[in-house]
Amino acid sequence: MTHQESHSEIRAEVTKLCAKFPGAYWRQLDAVRGYPTEFVVALTEAGYLSVLIPEEYGGSGLGLSAAAAILETIHETGGNGGACHAQMYTMGTVLRHGSEAQKQYYLPKIATGELRLQAFGVTEPTSGTDTTALRTTARREGDEYVVNGQKVWTSRAEHSDLMLLLARTTPRDQVTKKTEGLSTFLIDMQSAKGHGLTLRPIRSMMNHNSCEVFFDNMRIPADTLVGEEGRGFRYILDGMNAERLLIAAECIGDAKWFIGKATEYAKSRVVFGRPIGQNQGIQFPIANAYAKMCAARLMVQDGLARFERGEPCGEQANMAKMLASDASWAAAEMAVQTHGGFGFAEEYDIERKFRETRLYQVAPISTNLILSYLAEHVLGLPRSY
Ligand SMILES: Cc1cc2nc3c(=O)[nH]c(=O)nc-3n(C[C@H](O)[C@H](O)[C@H](O)COP(=O)(O)OP(=O)(O)OC[C@H]3O[C@@H](n4cnc5c(N)ncnc54)[C@H](O)[C@@H]3O)c2cc1C
Repeated sequence: MTHQESHSEIRAEVTKLCAKFPGAYWRQLDAVRGYPTEFVVALTEAGYLSVLIPEEYGGSGLGLSAAAAILETIHETGGNGGACHAQMYTMGTVLRHGSEAQKQYYLPKIATGELRLQAFGVTEPTSGTDTTALRTTARREGDEYVVNGQKVWTSRAEHSDLMLLLARTTPRDQVTKKTEGLSTFLIDMQSAKGHGLTLRPIRSMMNHNSCEVFFDNMRIPADTLVGEEGRGFRYILDGMNAERLLIAAECIGDAKWFIGKATEYAKSRVVFGRPIGQNQGIQFPIANAYAKMCAARLMVQDGLARFERGEPCGEQANMAKMLASDASWAAAEMAVQTHGGFGFAEEYDIERKFRETRLYQVAPISTNLILSYLAEHVLGLPRSY
């Protein structure tokens, strides 16, 4: 591939680290729905999970494109950043909106891995994508908040020390705009477990360690509030461009992995006395997937460049997420077809990665909602909801 990639040193080092965690490692975890603790520890110790934390708080203070290069490489080498990527973007909420005391206390510990900030509690069973309709409440009582409600699909909750939680602090009928009255909290999950916090794992299509989370009169100190009470929805929105761009980078990595595997297999698999890759019926879908990946990558790079220059990039971040997840899904489909029956055999990892990359059409935001954003906010079409 002729394309000049950014952060080539980081990519080379992350590739070396990932080589210690080959397909067999991910396959065995997938079978038991296990968490890749050793991988996450290795990434943390090498400093890759703290690249976005400023140097004064113990990180390396690099830009978003460095984080994107790390996640892309993990996926390009057959791994999955879903086990730990949330730390990169949820940490931004604490960094941008947390008090100095919160930053001084939490960020250095997150940087060293002493505290894992992997859980992000936004989605609820009844409100779905309509985030402002969420029902979890946090009611102020003296020096505490009392939290009641439920989250769903909270990934990595069992493997995290902290959770960034979005809850309603002012009832919806008492605010002028539905986006007001929501607040963000940084919760110490370890001490809350058994004291109003209960987790229930959700067995799902792929190994993502997601949970249902129940809050039953969970009492948390008032100083766990991040930023101002009532402005939490804005804070969450604030971090979404980074989240979209990082997920898009993972999708580009997946697409590259599928294309690499399919190309290799098409060259070596001989049927009817010649490599299957000699048939244009096999070549063209691979070439097509490659073109789609390259086009999506340009959008990801554009989004990252705008983000790092501090320019508005909602349009580009959303398009990058959509086009990259479309490219990875198209590549996944192509790779299964190229591998024929072996595409379904676990030991080839194709079926695992196929299941894993399917997620990104739906989470963290579904394709329809991106199209809706583009239609209404970029093209000025009438609002549909
Ligand atoms: C494995 C996994 C991990 C996740 N991890 C987390 C996590 O860590 N933290 C967290 O907070 N959430 C997490 N989520 C939740 C995820 O963000 C949501 O599933 C996603 O945003 C979609 O919301 P929903 O499932 O409620 O779908 P719904 O909102 O119920 O939507 C269902 C379908 O209807 C479509 N739809 C809805 N409204 C419209 C409309 N107006 N126009 C057109 N189409 C529409 C949607 O696009 C979607 O296809 C995770 C989900 C999964 C599956």
